[in-house]
Amino acid sequence: MPLNNQLVAMRETQPWKFLALHRLNFQFLRLNFQFLEGNFKRSEPYLQDDQKAADYLRQVRWPAGVTCPRCGNDAVEPRERCDNGLQRFNCVPCAARLGQQFAMFTDWTSSIFEESKLRPLEWLLVIGLWQLKLNATEIAASADIQERTAQRCINLLDGGIYETYHLDPTRQLEHQGEADECYQSAGSQGLAREVERHERAPRQRGMQLRGRATAETGRPPMLGLVQRRDKADQDSPAAQVYLEVLENVRTATIKPIIAAKVKGGAQFFTDEYSIYHFTKADYDYRTVNHGADEYAHRDPDGTCVHCNTMEGIWSSLRNFLDHFKDISQRFLHLRVARDEFLHNHGHLHWRQTFEAALRCLFSTTGDYLRRMAHQHRRMPLTLCYR
Ligand SMILES: [Zn+2]
Repeated sequence: MPLNNQLVAMRETQPWKFLALHRLNFQFLRLNFQFLEGNFKRSEPYLQDDQKAADYLRQVRWPAGVTCPRCGNDAVEPRERCDNGLQRFNCVPCAARLGQQFAMFTDWTSSIFEESKLRPLEWLLVIGLWQLKLNATEIAASADIQERTAQRCINLLDGGIYETYHLDPTRQLEHQGEADECYQSAGSQGLAREVERHERAPRQRGMQLRGRATAETGRPPMLGLVQRRDKADQDSPAAQVYLEVLENVRTATIKPIIAAKVKGGAQFFTDEYSIYHFTKADYDYRTVNHGADEYAHRDPDGTCVHCNTMEGIWSSLRNFLDHFKDISQRFLHLRVARDEFLHNHGHLHWRQTFEAALRCLFSTTGDYLRRMAHQHRRMPLTLCYR
């Protein structure tokens, strides 16, 4: 297929991938760019201008009609738009309650985007690129924004997903679950200014230590829980994962997580590592002996005992995390939450994933990240994940 046709095909299936690749790698095709981008905007009408982008975001935030973020009432009247295309509303009950002529709010009041200076259209581009697992440098280049801005954007998006999706207590794994742990090198990035003033030791980079590392040694462990995909069912979702960054891997640390995330009675597969032995009590617990070079076996009842699903997820997570230069331990759990979210929505059309992400983001005000960014400057690294 000629390259141009490939691009046209990609535009229909994955518009943002098209845009990113186009802007990053195919700059020599610049002549075609305007034509293709024009088509792209026709296929995704909300990418035409800020007003359409704002309308689209409002539709996702309030599918059943706009309600006041303060009082929840739907007796609101639209007023003139802001300069960046956001719609202003006046809440009649709030105005009466406060004894004012107006009680205004906009499309973004009390949302994660409220304090942002980016325009709605830019946000839509950034979210589409974020969904492609790009890092700040790539997002900045593709969406044509500052790299520092892109960095703030991905922290905001990853933080929103962590708070709403990762911490969602209703998400549980059942049927056949695998558990495994993995260690990720992550530096504890110091603030450059403080290092210069010699107030603290220079940043430690992740160290190549072997064995059971902890967050303190620069290799925070991660616990992965996965519900195997039901292969008999064609329409079943992708294997559902739960990834948690930990200070250490001890039974005391992982026990509450497993108890909360895996439904009792499920089949539970791990390697022979002793920290998992406690699961015998509540689960149908089976082990595979990696130490004896055994990676899978079939039990007499026909059950395949292995944790290869989890191994596969680790390798894709490593690929994703390798993408971020010198990943900071303070933000590692946010990146991991993005990978978890995108993996669990991997079986869906990109548009469904995109809107699922938006719905998650609109269900929080971004408090978690604000609190985290504030507290983490003073907190020992090992407490960052709580
Ligand atoms: Zn109100």
